[in-house]
Amino acid sequence: MTELDTNDGRGQGSVASGSAWLDRYAGAMIGVYGTPQRVLVRGEGCYVWDSDGRRYLDLLGGIATNALGHAHPTLVASVTEQLSTLGHVSNFFATPPQIGLAERLLSLLDAPEGSRVFFANSGGEANEAAFKMARRTGRPRILALEGAFHGRSMGALAMTHKAAYREPFAPLPGGVEHLPFGDLAALEAAVDDSVAALVLEPIQGEAGVLPLPEGYLGRARELTAAHGALLVVDEVQTGMGRTGAWFAHRRHDIVPDVVTLAKGLGGGLPVGAAVALGERAAQLLGPGQHGTTFGGNPVSTAAALATIHVIERDDLLANVREVGARLRADVLATRHPLLAGVQGEGLLLGIRLARPLAAHAARAALDAGFIVNAVNPGTLRLAPPLLLTGDQAATFSAALPALLDAAEAASAQQEAG
Ligand code: PLP
Repeated sequence: MTELDTNDGRGQGSVASGSAWLDRYAGAMIGVYGTPQRVLVRGEGCYVWDSDGRRYLDLLGGIATNALGHAHPTLVASVTEQLSTLGHVSNFFATPPQIGLAERLLSLLDAPEGSRVFFANSGGEANEAAFKMARRTGRPRILALEGAFHGRSMGALAMTHKAAYREPFAPLPGGVEHLPFGDLAALEAAVDDSVAALVLEPIQGEAGVLPLPEGYLGRARELTAAHGALLVVDEVQTGMGRTGAWFAHRRHDIVPDVVTLAKGLGGGLPVGAAVALGERAAQLLGPGQHGTTFGGNPVSTAAALATIHVIERDDLLANVREVGARLRADVLATRHPLLAGVQGEGLLLGIRLARPLAAHAARAALDAGFIVNAVNPGTLRLAPPLLLTGDQAATFSAALPALLDAAEAASAQQEAG
């Protein structure tokens, strides 16, 4: 066995430094993610440790995914018990956690009579299912918004807006139009009886944590209902408690036709869902028209049930509201000249900078032991575990002025050099 051999069945192997791991990463992985910032080896609660033994406060949570942080005992116990009992079956068979999770989601969504769930393994796949539902209406047009991110598989990518993600893969499935973000007049003009579906994120996460303007979702519901078009709400990033409510759209008092979920749903295990609300949406995909081997597998659905259980038991929705509000207020109270504002809801926050220094700021944060994400050149995104404590959040807001100073210094040095 060489010093760097990982063939110990756990992918861990013997101790190697971060730079040795990164060399091996570059030699073995297709480079779609660029160079990883660190090699992480362990997590506990809201902290992770890298291969050089350094600890970080994880304010990104696997991009809005590790709802219960890392190695949560209830999640570990539930997954371990399920894997020790029944780990995988095909969709020729049903399992109790799969059925139980479908029922829990319908109940959390106050789903009307006739509603049904399709399980996938990711957000892109959940949206792919919604895309197919839209096609089954027989109508030609699907509306999405500029700035939208709905995933990278071809149907989801067709609904995603960013040219750099789309253009290398043309032609994409047709019929998708992107409307200007938050523009009600454009929406009113676009929705007619030829529209199969309008697909929206309540807060555009990947575009920079941009909430839809007040009233937009409500009007979108009225217009789609009046014209018999589906309203698909992509809650992959905003759902499962992230904003302090189970689902971000609930605050807008609407009932969509389809809600898509993933990320936080499994607390870190891969599971996605397309929930069809009401009989019409639920009947769009018939026997044999869609499927996936791992969708609704017992381990991932048990993980999701455990995640929902802990969110309820520990009142984490209230924690998200309280800690999120405090974090927002503390960040604003720094009054740093580089700070332009904070947007978002609950524990999905975008710290807007007055200049495009987010990448520098994220690097400074990492060096100081905080994981955040430069979601666009001018915005830092925070999407930590839902159980982040006020004290943990306060360590970040206390450090923020120095991080922003460091970002400015790094940028000045770059310009000078
Ligand atoms: N939809 C939204 C709103 C997302 O934020 C994402 C991922 O960031 C996706 C869909 C795609 O999810 P996945 O990466 O699990 O395919």
